[in-house]
Amino acid sequence: MESLWNDAEAANFQGDLALRVYTSRLLGRDKSLVLHGGGNTSVKIRERDLVGEERDILYVKGSGWDLEFIEEAGFPGVHLDHLLQLSQLKVLSDPQMVNELQTHMTRASAPAPSVETILHALLPYRYVDHTHADAVLAITNTGNGETRIRELYGDQVVVIPYVMPGFDLARLCAERFPAERRASTIGMVLMNHGVFSFGDTARESYERMIRLVQQAEDYLAAHGAWELPPAPTRAPRTSRRAQIADLRREVVRIAGFPLVMRAHQTPRAIAFADRPDVAHLSQQGPATPDHVIRTKRVPLLGSDVNRYAADYRAYFERHAPRAREPKTMLDAAPRVVLDPNLGLCTAGRSAKDAAIVADLYSHTMDVIERATALGGYQALPERDIFDVEYWDLEQAKLRKSGTAPQFSGEVALVTGAASGIGKACVRSLLARGAAVIGVDIKQDVANVHSGTEFLGIVCDVTDAATVSAAIERGVGTFGGIDMLVLNAGVFDGGQMIAALGDDEWRKVMGINLDANLTLMRECHPLLKLAPQGGRVVIIGSKNVRAPGPGAAAYSASKAALSQLGRVAALEWGGDGIRVNVLHPNAVFDTGIWNDDVLAARAAHYGISVEDYRRRNVLRTEVTSRDVAELAAEMCGALFAKTTGAQIPVDGGNERVI
Ligand code: ZN
Repeated sequence: MESLWNDAEAANFQGDLALRVYTSRLLGRDKSLVLHGGGNTSVKIRERDLVGEERDILYVKGSGWDLEFIEEAGFPGVHLDHLLQLSQLKVLSDPQMVNELQTHMTRASAPAPSVETILHALLPYRYVDHTHADAVLAITNTGNGETRIRELYGDQVVVIPYVMPGFDLARLCAERFPAERRASTIGMVLMNHGVFSFGDTARESYERMIRLVQQAEDYLAAHGAWELPPAPTRAPRTSRRAQIADLRREVVRIAGFPLVMRAHQTPRAIAFADRPDVAHLSQQGPATPDHVIRTKRVPLLGSDVNRYAADYRAYFERHAPRAREPKTMLDAAPRVVLDPNLGLCTAGRSAKDAAIVADLYSHTMDVIERATALGGYQALPERDIFDVEYWDLEQAKLRKSGTAPQFSGEVALVTGAASGIGKACVRSLLARGAAVIGVDIKQDVANVHSGTEFLGIVCDVTDAATVSAAIERGVGTFGGIDMLVLNAGVFDGGQMIAALGDDEWRKVMGINLDANLTLMRECHPLLKLAPQGGRVVIIGSKNVRAPGPGAAAYSASKAALSQLGRVAALEWGGDGIRVNVLHPNAVFDTGIWNDDVLAARAAHYGISVEDYRRRNVLRTEVTSRDVAELAAEMCGALFAKTTGAQIPVDGGNERVI
């Protein structure tokens, strides 16, 4: 563990709060210190307010901010004198505490101050840093953790036994810290929770944190507990998509709402799941209460989701009467699954959430394995875990994260996703909260979207092996395929039948028709498992109903594709899969059209380009986005009772009408 302090970098941060931002980001950069919004930092600054009064203000990390990316706006200022008075109270309920923090801020628009604000206030140092460092947890979470921590740190830290974060913890520290601090004290260890450091400057406080964590790492190394057990170099390569999709289906059934599932078949995860003592190690509880909301108390081992749910309900029943607000909805579905074949699988309402859960559990595995090597991992009693999992303040945060978007937790696959209608479909589905697998023969499919919710795969849809590999990868990343948008296609440039060669005909049929049969056949078992029922949207063409001369292969391929879709609607209705066909026409913002081609076609009809664009009954232009929005809606609740339909999206065409 090295200090990342850099004088040149630090010079860009002028002032006490700016330096607080800088070293907070340094902590955030190291994932073994803090993860995904974990940890918090503060600085105390004397300021003159608008009426000329000098006030001490505590700037502390606000909720919703991640240390790695925090800015000054992420630190609400709270009146320090009031916080110190609060710390002297005998009791303060959570709602009261939240109210006091929020009504004593200097900026009404600032985020809510951390629940650990009062604790930061009462530590008599300018800068205070707090992390949930893996190395410290690996020592505290053992049978004789407190003895070890004292032996390791001596008077450098004050040790506080575990108490749930919030006012009670602040109250205990207010009592213990002044009594137990010595001249050499530079930090505080909260058992089974994390570590604090403090100092006069941002750098001093930060570097003391690094020093304390380095000492913990050295201690683990000296006790043969730092090196993680070796993992096999390569995971066996077999198809696991059916197993992953089945597992996701079961987890979603228990949860009652769709979830994305990510399979991390890393050698390390597989080795952990394969440990003979994995049941003993993994079923005790999380490394820090900070993780429990997202990971749940324990992972599912193997695939018996019903058994997990029954155990979870029993755990809830054992402790629920103690919950301060037992109105909470019970959700007994696991978020972490350990399986020797699949490795680590994680579930979340979005791909991002599932990825966060995976990060949290990866660090949990490190802590558990090191604590085990040190003499035995020991998590908190389950009652303490429950208190955090169903803590009013955490539940309030969950509620605040609000109503889920339309396709939250669902997965779509779009072909021809790199441009035109396909790219627009990716956007429309992402905007509705879906995770999207985009396939295209073009390399730039990878760049259609940069977030965790999108996976771009270069794939020739006419090559069955490549299609199968793409589906395997897509299911490993998101857990299934619930929606399939068959959009990839080519237009043969206006060949009359008399001149149409066999090769050209076969090429168009291969892409526009045959490839879609392969895709539908490969995706059918997955669509069958879709939690809300599978949906297929086929991008047809106006040419199906109103063909024109010179596009025989294109028109015939799209007509056959529509017929394939209609048969699929009949065959798959019993599986709850809806199949509908859209017939766009004259969508000019796609790859095959450019200004020259448009001008030439307009000239051909003797009209302006503007008129040519709107050559339909409604005199309106049809864009890729229009088609994509309809395709996305066809997958939604509005069309829940519709299958086998053929819907034009063409501004009205006289020959079709
Ligand atoms: Zn904490």
